[in-house]
Amino acid sequence: MCGIFGVANHSEASNLTYLGLYALQHRGQESAGIVSSDGEDLYKIRKRKQVSDSFDEKSFAFLKGDFSIGHVRYSTTGGNSYTNVQPFQASGKFGKLAIAHNGNLTNYFSLKSKLEDKGVIFQSTSDTEIILHLVAQSEGKSIFDKIEDAVKKIDGAFSLMFLTKDSVIAVRDPQGFRPLIMGKVNNSYVFSSESCAFDLIGAEYIREVEPGEIVEVSRDGKINTKTYHKPTPANCVFEHVYFGRPDSVIFSETAYEVRKNLGRELAKENKIDADFVIPVPDSGNFAALGYSEESKIPFEFGFIRNHYVGRTFIEPKQSIRGFGVKVKLNPVKETLKGKRVIVIDDSIVRGTTSKKIIKMIRDAGAKEITLLISSPPFIKPCFYGIDTPSEAELIAANHSMKEICNYIEADHLAYLSMDGMFRAIKKDSKSFCTACFTGKYPTPVDGHTML
Ligand code: AMP
Repeated sequence: MCGIFGVANHSEASNLTYLGLYALQHRGQESAGIVSSDGEDLYKIRKRKQVSDSFDEKSFAFLKGDFSIGHVRYSTTGGNSYTNVQPFQASGKFGKLAIAHNGNLTNYFSLKSKLEDKGVIFQSTSDTEIILHLVAQSEGKSIFDKIEDAVKKIDGAFSLMFLTKDSVIAVRDPQGFRPLIMGKVNNSYVFSSESCAFDLIGAEYIREVEPGEIVEVSRDGKINTKTYHKPTPANCVFEHVYFGRPDSVIFSETAYEVRKNLGRELAKENKIDADFVIPVPDSGNFAALGYSEESKIPFEFGFIRNHYVGRTFIEPKQSIRGFGVKVKLNPVKETLKGKRVIVIDDSIVRGTTSKKIIKMIRDAGAKEITLLISSPPFIKPCFYGIDTPSEAELIAANHSMKEICNYIEADHLAYLSMDGMFRAIKKDSKSFCTACFTGKYPTPVDGHTML
């Protein structure tokens, strides 16, 4: 759960990167960082703050040059300490190099232990640092070759941006777990986790960085690409269900449309008599719209969201999370009183949010409450970069539908089927990672991937 952005050959590279990160803030709110290059040196600013609080006018005078990469972070592997804030920077025989990573490596512990045996010391607890060491140890001639060597040794999810003095290099893992796209502003190339960042800076979308591909854009404007590994696509389906911004094109589909379709499919699978449909804002908004369109049951806002509170999950502490639901959502009592309502959300993880939401609706006077979830039951942890608790804490991993319904105190509960989800996405399930819903992990996971 991170966002990455990169700019090559633009006079306002760091400023554009900052705007890109602004648009990608939903992908991580723990820290933000930008590294730029003017061909002479690399310049770095990293803060454990949101983008708006991390940079000011002076920052862009310092972040000189026409090449830049940036990162917003939500920690999965490694804690939330300053040493883990990205982009990371290192220097070696190859000169200076910075890296920004979205994803989670699944052979982190085995690689780390091998490197430590060789005497390598680590400054962070982040899996991303491994990649820099692998680059440094490669015997490849160019930085491109060294990066290729390094990424062939790592497994799991990695969408990467590298910055050298004279180039930006983008890499995507062979499964393409996390999104990474390429675009153009005038004659400059830009890279982003999501297209909403391109919209903000007026960049034109060109294509995805393909799974298993390395793309280098150099100071002379040349593009060098290579398929370093045969693509075996396993795009993260949860990017569509929850994580990506609805106005982004993710894996070539607009998340907004996909989410509405998820709601339509939910309506086809669950014909329920109710006075109206309400979303859990914002995660259930589009599925609820789709449900309403398909079922002809009116759409209402049953909750008003306080937009000045971050996402419930972004604060890692359990105590703050529980509190966050109340701070974030307030029920509209007049709408709910005496009504039979269908409540729509994208997923149930631990079940704590749903339980609180149902209680709020019940306290506001609703007569009958059906909770519908626009994805299948979440039964396995993600090792590829979506923050999930251990299997023991995933309510659907350990409880029947009836037990979950009793726990959250809804009158009825239903989830969307796997088939329904892929009818909504309109793509073959084979090109997606569905591990959180099925337990089928597309790559080996070494069992110690979650800290
Ligand atoms: P829970 O209370 O653990 O059941 O959390 C479920 C709520 O968290 C739903 O409203 C989801 O929209 C949201 N959610 C699901 N997965 C994630 C995640 N990985 N990070 C942040 N929020 C999430």
